[in-house]
Amino acid sequence: MKILTNYIDGKLVSPSSNEYIDIFNPAEGKIYAKAPRSCAKDIENAVSAAQSAFSTWSRLSVDERSGFLLRIAEKIEQRHQGLALAETNDNGKPLWLSKAVDIPRAAANFRFFATAVEHFCSESYSNEEITNYTLRQPIGVVGCISPWNLPLYLFTWKIAPALAAGNCVIAKPSEITPVTAYMLSEICEEVGLPRGVLNIVHGYGAEVGAAITLHKKIPVISFTGGSKTGAQIAQSAAPLFKKISLELGGKNPNIIFDDCNFERMISETVRSSFVNQGQICLCGSRIFVEKSIYNKFIDAFVAKTKELTIGDPLDPEIKQGAIVSEDHMQKILSYFTIAKKEGGTILCGGKTYEAADRCKDGWFIEPTVITDLGPHSRINQEEIFGPVVSVVPFETEEQALEFANCTPYGLSATVWTENLTRAHRFSRDLQAGVVWVNCWLVRDLRTPFGGMKQSGVGREGGLEALRFFTEPKNVSIYHGP
Ligand code: NAD
Repeated sequence: MKILTNYIDGKLVSPSSNEYIDIFNPAEGKIYAKAPRSCAKDIENAVSAAQSAFSTWSRLSVDERSGFLLRIAEKIEQRHQGLALAETNDNGKPLWLSKAVDIPRAAANFRFFATAVEHFCSESYSNEEITNYTLRQPIGVVGCISPWNLPLYLFTWKIAPALAAGNCVIAKPSEITPVTAYMLSEICEEVGLPRGVLNIVHGYGAEVGAAITLHKKIPVISFTGGSKTGAQIAQSAAPLFKKISLELGGKNPNIIFDDCNFERMISETVRSSFVNQGQICLCGSRIFVEKSIYNKFIDAFVAKTKELTIGDPLDPEIKQGAIVSEDHMQKILSYFTIAKKEGGTILCGGKTYEAADRCKDGWFIEPTVITDLGPHSRINQEEIFGPVVSVVPFETEEQALEFANCTPYGLSATVWTENLTRAHRFSRDLQAGVVWVNCWLVRDLRTPFGGMKQSGVGREGGLEALRFFTEPKNVSIYHGP
C-alpha cells in the first residue's frame, strides 16, 4: 500500500495528525493508497515556509525561475509512463487518455508558463510631463485548489503561472486523486526547487481547503471545482479581501444545425459527450439538434455511442473507463431515476456496467443518451458530470439560442454549422466563456479560459493567468520643466 506524504518546506513529511485518507482505484473499487489527512497546523507550517521562501524566489531573475519550471517539465516528460499509470489507477480514466492528454498537458503547462513569463510585459503611458509605467509584482503566498477530473493537468495549470510570476504556493489536490500531485513533489525535490517555494498539502476540502481559504496570509486563491464549493470559497474570501479566481461547473450546450458536416460532427459529438466518462467540465451535456436532422442524428449518435467499449482502463481497446468514486457513481445513477420521473426516454445506457476480472468490483456506467425532456428539466439544468447527455430538438435559431442560454451556467458551448454569419452571431450571443465552432476542446494555452454566470469568476490561461498572479502597481514620474 502506497503511503503519500505532504511536501512542506522542501521535505516530504507526514501530516501532523498522523491520520490518513483511503485512496481507491475506481476500476477495482479497492483501496490502494493512503493520503495525508492534513489540518490547519500543516497549512500553518506550509505558510511559514512559503513566506520565508518568498523574498528570495520573487527576486530571482525571470530566467532563473523559468529554468526551474523547464526542469520540472522535463522530469514530467521523463516520468511520463509512471505518471500516466498513476493517474489512471487513481482516477479510472483509460491509460491511453492519461498518456495522450493528462501528462503531456501537465508538462506543457510548466513549459508554457516558463516561456510565457519571459514575454510578460506591462503598460506605459507618457505625455510631456509625466511617464506612467505599471509594475507587475508577485503577490506573496498563493493558494491553489484543484479537482479530481484532470488531476495533474489542472493542478499544474495553476501552480505553473503562480510560480512563474514569482509567488510561493500552497497547493491542495483533490483528496480523491492525490497520487500524481505527490509524484510532482518528488519531482520538485529532484530538480532542487528551493524549499518552501511550492508546498503540496493533502486532505479534505472542508479541512485543508478551508484552512487555505481562511488563512490571513494567503491573499490569493485560485480554485477549480464545483459551483457550490466556489460559492463557499467566495464567502470565506470576501471579508478577507482576497483576490479569487474561480473555475466552476458547467452544463454546456452543443448546438447542431442541419447544414453541418454531419460525419465530423457525429464523431466529435461522441467525444465531447463521453470522453473521460463525461467528467470534463467542458463536455457538451445538452445537445440541441435542428428538427430537420433530429431523427438522422439520433440514429447515428446512438449507434456510435453503443460502440463505445467499457471496462479495464489499462486495456488500450477500451474507450470508457471507470467513474471516479462510488459516491459520484451513485450521484450519476440518481439522475436516471430523475430522468424517468421527468418523463425522459433513455435510448441507451442508464445503468451500471459489470466489468470482468480485476475490474469486477469497479465503478462503471454505460454511456447514456436521454431524450424527450425540455430545456428546463432538471436533467437539462443540473450538472451531472458523467457519461450522460440529453438530446433536444429545436426549430429556429432563436429557439436554439434561448435553449442554450437558459441555465445558470456559462462555461463553454459548441456550434455546428457551415453558415459563417450564423457562426459569428452565435459566438457573439452565447453566454459562455469559451465557444467552439465546428470543433471541440481545442485548447491553445495562450487564450483566456473560464466561465460566465455560475461557471466562474476570472480567467486562466496565457497572460490572463500571469496578470491574476501579479499585483499591478502604477508609477508616475514627473519630468516636466
Ligand atoms: P469540489 O468542489 O468538490 O472539489 C474541488 C476541490 O475543492 C477539491 O480539492 C476539494 O477538496 C476542495 N474543497 C472542497 N470543499 C472545500 C471548501 N469548503 N473549501 C476549500 N476547498 C474545498 O469539486 P470536484 O467534485 O473535485 O470536481 C468536480 C467539479 O469541478 C465539477 O463541478 C466540474 O465542472 C468542476 N470543474 C471545473 C473546471 C473548470 O475549469 N471550470 C475544470 C474541472 C472541473
